Formats: sequence, C-alpha cells, structure tokens
Amino acid sequence: MITKHKSMRMNIRILLIGLGVMSGIFSSCGQTSEMDSLYNDGPYIFFENGHTVARWIEDNQVKADTLETGEPLKLNATVSASFDPAFLKTDYSFQPERQDAFTGVSHFVAVSYIHGQYGMLKKLLQVHRVIDEGGNWIYGTGHLVIVGDVVDRGDEVTEILWMIHKLEQQAEKVKGKVHYLLGNHEIMVLKGDLRYIHKKYRYTSAGLKMSYQDIFSVNSYLGRWLRSKPVAISINKTIFAHAGFSEQYLQLGLTNKELNKTFREQIFDEPEDSVLANPMLNILYNDLGPVWYRGYFAEDFTEDRARAILQKLGKKNIVVGHTSFSGVVTRYRHKIIGVDSSIKFGKTGELLLYEKSAFTGVC
Ligand code: ZN
Repeated sequence: MITKHKSMRMNIRILLIGLGVMSGIFSSCGQTSEMDSLYNDGPYIFFENGHTVARWIEDNQVKADTLETGEPLKLNATVSASFDPAFLKTDYSFQPERQDAFTGVSHFVAVSYIHGQYGMLKKLLQVHRVIDEGGNWIYGTGHLVIVGDVVDRGDEVTEILWMIHKLEQQAEKVKGKVHYLLGNHEIMVLKGDLRYIHKKYRYTSAGLKMSYQDIFSVNSYLGRWLRSKPVAISINKTIFAHAGFSEQYLQLGLTNKELNKTFREQIFDEPEDSVLANPMLNILYNDLGPVWYRGYFAEDFTEDRARAILQKLGKKNIVVGHTSFSGVVTRYRHKIIGVDSSIKFGKTGELLLYEKSAFTGVC
C-alpha cells in the first residue's frame, strides 16, 4: 500500500488546479462508441521510397501530401491543435542529444504521466507561464522536463508530440530547454506493445494501413524524433528518469550517457527475445530498470536506501513519474520526488517547480 507523506509536502509548494474534463469526440477513457463521429489526427510524416510524405486523418478521411514540392503542406489547420509546419526539421536524422547533464539552471518544471491529455498539459503549462495562450514558449532560459508517458491511454497524443516538438525548438532559441524523457509507454509503442493505445489510434492505424508501431518506426519523422530522446538526464543536483534507479540497476555502473545510448542502440529496435536474453538489457528493460521501477514508493523502501542511491548517483534529488498519486509527492526531504499526478484522468494535474534554488510553486 502506498501512503502519502503529507507532512513532506509542506516544504514543496506546488500548483493544483482542477480543470474540467476536456470535451471532444472521444472520452478520455475511450469507452464511448462515437468513432463514427468525425475525427482528425496527425499529421504523420513518413520516408517512403525516397519521398517524404505527410499523411493525416481529416473528418475521418485519409489525406496525404508530399513535402518535396516546396509548397506549404496542404493541411487544414483544424486537423491538429498544435502542429506547425514552420517547425518541421529538414534534417531527418535527429541526432541524439549530446548533453545529458545540465548545470547552472535557475528554474525548471517537471511533469509526467500525461497520457494523451493535451488540454490538461497545455493549461498547466499556461498557468505556470511556461507557454502563452497561443502555446508558445515564454519560459526563457528555464527547462521543461517531460518525465515520460506522453503516449497511450488518451486521445490527444499526437497533439502533445507536436507541441513538445515545437517547444523544444522555441526554447533552444532563448537558451531554454525541453527534455522529453521516454517512459515505459513510449518504449512499449516503439516495441509494438499496443495494449494501451486509445481506440482512436486503432482507427488511424487502419486508415493509414499500418500498425501503430509502424507509425513510429524508423521510417517516420516522429519515430526518429522519439528515438533521439533520452531515458535519464540531470539538471543541477537533480536526476530524472521515468521510474528511477534501483540498487540492481546501479550495480551495472552505467552513466546516463551509457544508459541512453544502450536504450537507443540495443533496446528500441532489437527483438524482445534478444533483449531479455542479455542480463544487462534485461535489467534495463524490466521492473528494476529506469522506465519500470516502482521501488521508491514501496513500503519497504527507506531513507537510508534513498541516501545510498543518491550517493552513488552523486545527486541530491531523484525525480520520477510512473507511480500515480493525486499530486506531486516528495519523500525524505525531497530525496525522492514523484511527479505522476494522475493527469491521465484529465481532471487535475500538478507540476513540480524549481526556482531560486528550491522546489517551490504556488498553491
Ligand atoms: Zn510509466
């Protein structure tokens, strides 16, 4: 049984806002049967036989356009709430981020477990002045850390992906930064475990005549972009991963750089059998690994263990998502901070805020 250490929350000021469930064709639980209502999705961009082709769903119809003509993409603006063709990159190789440790960062926010709740994420970021009403970056040199699990469950996944894609470019221009750390659900989609996708995406998949995994393959723009993302980074004395660092993981002695590289090169696109057969990869990929571990919030976890883990990592705080609470939670004087605030339900959500050398915020 996971308990909440409410007293610890006194020192961490966080924002809680109650927002109504976003309205739309599809419920956040995916239980309605309104798929015969008109819906939009996309765009998705694919590299096919030497061509770059955008495909999307507009009023239930599959549309397509090539990107080589030099003309603007013929995409109706109503198709996506967040896609902006001005931010499409022309270099499709998406080199992985070289840097995985950032110092001297004066302010950052962290959020996780978004699961397709685009409207909720947007409102949270607007309330904290990370983005403006138009969804553009206004957080200056601050860092936004998305601690995994953007995909699956909800029905506005594509909107969030394009929003992050735009924000990371807008942030870079003013020496800010967006970090999109991969969670277990991103890894599941990349590896073809599609149990949790919203049924809207099954329709999209059928319309595009490809599996949802293939929509994010190495032959797709978003697929390549996702594969460039890390599993763990650090900012100042705080280290982030979707689920955390178990003692067993730490025995592997990997740096964040090695960890991120290993996921990219040996897990994303390798057959699951061969991943599981390798003892090191098995730890990374399973319950003791950084995208699945839940030990920090188990009853037998102790502050001494947290201290020892942090000592080995050379950090003061670990920020994780993956284990759901009703808000941001903190343990052992911020040694462990959980930022999975159950945004997936689309009703409420919280961000972790860091500014003026402390975790802070506005209640
Ligand atoms: Zn997770």
